[in-house]
Amino acid sequence: MSNLMDKVDMLKSLGDNVTLSDIVRVLEAVVEELNSIKLTINNIKEQVDAVDTDLSNLENAVYGEIEIECPNCNVSFTVSIEDIPESGNLNVECPNCHTIFNISLEHWETEGTDD
Ligand SMILES: [Zn+2]
Repeated sequence: MSNLMDKVDMLKSLGDNVTLSDIVRVLEAVVEELNSIKLTINNIKEQVDAVDTDLSNLENAVYGEIEIECPNCNVSFTVSIEDIPESGNLNVECPNCHTIFNISLEHWETEGTDD
């Protein structure tokens, strides 16, 4: 970004001798910088999304709940791990559309595994 400031200072120093191509060169540098910032923001956004997902999984592990999405209406709701039997399978009813579907705990297992 200081590189851009240098270019703007260079324009100022030219005073009345500044040409259109001088200005265009600086504008091109500005556009390049903006594109770079845009890329950085997209990378940060992806990382924040990943952290958000991890945090959500961690919260669920800590609070003993798993988040479930209804396959029918896509509404998310939580089920307590304690409600899931040893078999790891549970029929749950969507609180929104009342569709009953089966879930399996194996994706959310957080304890009892020996490597
Ligand atoms: Zn539903």
